[in-house]
Amino acid sequence: MTPPPLDPERHALLLDFDGTLVEFAPRPDHVRLRPGAAERLDALRRRLGGALALVSGRKVEALDRFTSPYRFNAIGVHGHEIRPAGEELRLRPTSPQLDVARRRLAAELGGGDRLRLEDKGSALVLHFREHPEEAERAAQLGRRAVDGLADLHAVPGNMIVELRERGVSKADAVALVAGWPGFAGRLPVFVGDDTTDEDGFRAAAAAGGFGIKVGPGPTAAPHRLPDVAAVHTWLADV
Ligand SMILES: [Mg+2]
Repeated sequence: MTPPPLDPERHALLLDFDGTLVEFAPRPDHVRLRPGAAERLDALRRRLGGALALVSGRKVEALDRFTSPYRFNAIGVHGHEIRPAGEELRLRPTSPQLDVARRRLAAELGGGDRLRLEDKGSALVLHFREHPEEAERAAQLGRRAVDGLADLHAVPGNMIVELRERGVSKADAVALVAGWPGFAGRLPVFVGDDTTDEDGFRAAAAAGGFGIKVGPGPTAAPHRLPDVAAVHTWLADV
C-alpha cells in the first residue's frame, strides 16, 4: 500500500540509509546520495521541527561523510552509536565476546580472501556482494565465529552477514529519538529496506506511528515504496 503523506506537524521520520536513501554499490564506500538529496533532507528536517534521524547499520562517521556538509541526528551500528545532530557521539558498551568473534574471523580469513571483513568496532560484517558465490561460506563463518558466545548472533542482511550483540536493534532507535529535541509527542514513521528494519517497523507501530518497507519481500510494515527513487519522490511531497 502506498504510504500516506507525512504530516510535518505530527510525524517524526526515521530513515534507514543503504537501500533506502542510496542504492547499493559493489563496495559500501561507493554509494552516493543523489544530487541535491542532502539539501532536501536538511530542508525536510526543518519542516519536521528537527524530528528526522538516520538509523543505520553504518558508523555515524560514514553517514556524516555521505551527507556532508550536513550532520543529521544519527543512530549508527544498529544502536551502538548514538549522536543527536549537535552533540558528540556516544557509544553503547559492547560485549567483550565481540573480541573473541573478531579473533576467530581473523584466523579464518586470509589476505586476498574473497570475503571482505568490515570491523565497525561494535559489530563485524562479512561482505560478499562482489562474490555472491561466497554466501554460504559467509553464513558458516559467521555461525562459527559466534558459536558458544551467548551475547552475539550472526544476522544475514543484504549480501552481508553481520555479527553483533543480541538485544540491540533498530527498535531501540525509536525509543532513543523520542527523547531528542523536536521528537517529543510525534508519531514515528520508520522507513527501511532490510530485515533489520523490521524491528524498527514494529517499534514505530507500537509507538502509534507506522513503517514503510522499501522494495520487495515480506514485512510487518503496512506500507511499501518500490525503490530508492520512490523514497525520494515520497519525501519530496512532504
Ligand atoms: Mg538498508
